[in-house]
Amino acid sequence: MQTKNIKAFGTEAAEAPLQTLDIQRRAVLAHDVEIEILYCGICHSDLHSARNEWHGTIYPIVPGHEIVGRVTKVGDHVKHFKVGDLAGVGCMVDSCRECEHCKNDLEQFCDQGSILTFNSPDAHLGGQTFGGYSQSIVVDENYVLHISDKLDLAGVAPLLCAGITTYSPLKHWNVGPGQKVGIVGIGGLGHMGIKLAKAMGAHVVVFTTSLSKTEDAKRLGADEVVLSTDPEQMAKHAKSLNFILDCVSAEHNIDAYLNLLKVDGTLTLVGAPMEPLPVTSFSLILGRRSFAGSAIGGIAETQEMLDFCAEHNITADIELIGVDEVNNAYERLLKGDIKYRFVIDMASLK
Ligand SMILES: [Zn+2]
Ligand SMILES: [Zn+2]
Repeated sequence: MQTKNIKAFGTEAAEAPLQTLDIQRRAVLAHDVEIEILYCGICHSDLHSARNEWHGTIYPIVPGHEIVGRVTKVGDHVKHFKVGDLAGVGCMVDSCRECEHCKNDLEQFCDQGSILTFNSPDAHLGGQTFGGYSQSIVVDENYVLHISDKLDLAGVAPLLCAGITTYSPLKHWNVGPGQKVGIVGIGGLGHMGIKLAKAMGAHVVVFTTSLSKTEDAKRLGADEVVLSTDPEQMAKHAKSLNFILDCVSAEHNIDAYLNLLKVDGTLTLVGAPMEPLPVTSFSLILGRRSFAGSAIGGIAETQEMLDFCAEHNITADIELIGVDEVNNAYERLLKGDIKYRFVIDMASLK
C-alpha cells in the first residue's frame, strides 16, 4: 500500500517526553478523506495513554482525538466531502459497521470494539493508529464530521471529545426546558456540560468544591452554583434535580448527589475515577433512582452536536499552545491548571 511520510508529535516510551516523530499515513483509498490538521485538543485520555496509565499502550504513540482541519484530498468514491471543506475527526476512525450497535448509529459500542483514532490496530498499515498531534490524517468519510465555518476552529476541536461526551447523555436522558439539571465538576467536560445543558433550555445547577470557580460557572451559563463541601447548600437541593451529569474523575461521594435527585432521576457518570465508588442501596431504592454511565456518542450524534453548537454559538474555552508546550501542558493538566482545554496549533509542528 502507498504511504506518505508526515511529522507527528508523540512518544516512544511511557517515561519519555513527547517529541517530533516521523510516521506514515496511507494514501487515500476510494472512500477516504485526507485532512490537513489545523487544531487538535488535548484530552486527559491523551495523557493517560501516553504514560500507559490505563495499560496496553503500544509505542510509539501519537495521541489526539479532537481534530479539526481542512480536506486536502478525497478518494474516488467519496460523496460528502470535497477538497477545501472543513472537517473533524473525534475518538473513532472506524468500526465493524455490521453489528446491531453500528447499524443503530451507536458505533461507540461496536461489538468488535470501534477503531479508536490512536493506539488501536490499524487494519490498513498494520501496527497502531496514530492520532491528531500530527500534520495530517486519512480517515474513511463515514467517520469524518462536517465543521461549520461560523465558529472559532480552535474552540471547536474539543467538541469532538469533551463536547460529544457531555452532549450524548444530556440528549439520551432528555434534558430540556422545565428541568433542573446538575453538573458536577467544572473542568474540560463540566464546562461543556454547563454550556450545552443551558442551551438545551434546562435550569443548570453547578456543583464545585472550589469557591473560586463560582463566578466562572455563572459566566459559562450556570443558574446556580453550589459549594459541594457545604452540607447546608447541598441540603437546599435535596430531591429536586431531574438529572445529574457527573464529570468528576477523582474519588467523591456519589450518595450525596443521588440524594439530590427527584423520583426517577438519573445520575450519569462521564468522569472516570479509577477506584470503585460506593453507593448505598437506599439512595437508589427510595426514589427509584438510576446510577448510569455514558461514553462519547455515535457519528451521527456527533454531527448533530456539532450542528447544535454552530446554531447556538458554542465552543470550548481554550488555551491555544504550540507543540513545544505540550509536555508542560500535560503537567498543568495534572494540576487542573487550565480553563478549560488546551488546543494545539498544529501549524507549530515543523
Ligand atoms: Zn477524549
Ligand atoms: Zn460494530
